[in-house]
Amino acid sequence: MWFKRKLSRKSGLKHDNRRAVECCQHGTRYAAYVCQHLVRGSKLGFFTPDLVHITDSDENRDRCAWCSACEQVREEQKGWNDISEGAAGITMICDACFEASRLRNQT
Ligand SMILES: [Zn+2]
Ligand SMILES: [Zn+2]
Repeated sequence: MWFKRKLSRKSGLKHDNRRAVECCQHGTRYAAYVCQHLVRGSKLGFFTPDLVHITDSDENRDRCAWCSACEQVREEQKGWNDISEGAAGITMICDACFEASRLRNQT
């Protein structure tokens, strides 16, 4: 999973599919990952690995999503690379915020 690889590399945290995150709204929750646009946006589209047929075995237990603008870049780049990941600007949020974002952005 591209989110995890990037975050793991940066933070040096060990591989953990169920990482906890401290959310100022929801307290201690499981981590989820979204593009920078989905954090606060609405009606942007809500793409998940399932939806675009990315399978990554065990790692797809982590929730992650990106918006339609990021999906367009991902398609142009034929997948996730430095350019498409740079455009997405991955942000870690809690799983409750993730569900709220899904409701706001799913079209
Ligand atoms: Zn986006
Ligand atoms: Zn939250």
